[in-house]
Amino acid sequence: MNNFMNRFREWLAGFMQGRYGADQLSRDLNIVLLVLIVLSFFIRSGLLELLIFAGIAWNIFRMFSKNHAARYRENQWYLSKSSGIRRRIQSFISINKQRSNYHIYTCPNRECRQKIRIPKGKGRIEVTCPRCHTTFVKNS
Ligand SMILES: [Zn+2]
Repeated sequence: MNNFMNRFREWLAGFMQGRYGADQLSRDLNIVLLVLIVLSFFIRSGLLELLIFAGIAWNIFRMFSKNHAARYRENQWYLSKSSGIRRRIQSFISINKQRSNYHIYTCPNRECRQKIRIPKGKGRIEVTCPRCHTTFVKNS
């Protein structure tokens, strides 16, 4: 079994020799395709299915391609076109990560309404608003 795995690994290494492999474009395309596939469970659309099929085919073609220069250019083109939206997605993810580790409270002072970030799981704590210095007690 071990011998078989070694031979398979050798064969795979030889097969992948000189192939382009995965890059940011193929990784992001995989995510988009996954979303489209889930969507296709709810929306019956021939066009959507064609799009998924074409996306998968293109992705496989790119990963096994030996024309690195062309694939590199595609990836660079993608990176330059998508930098804005990728940054927005990154910040959305980091805000949501923060939300799972912190409670966001609003200062009870009606004139202040400052949003205050408190780490979760600290029990009953007294919070002092950094803006108006109102204190209040919360379960975190
Ligand atoms: Zn306040």
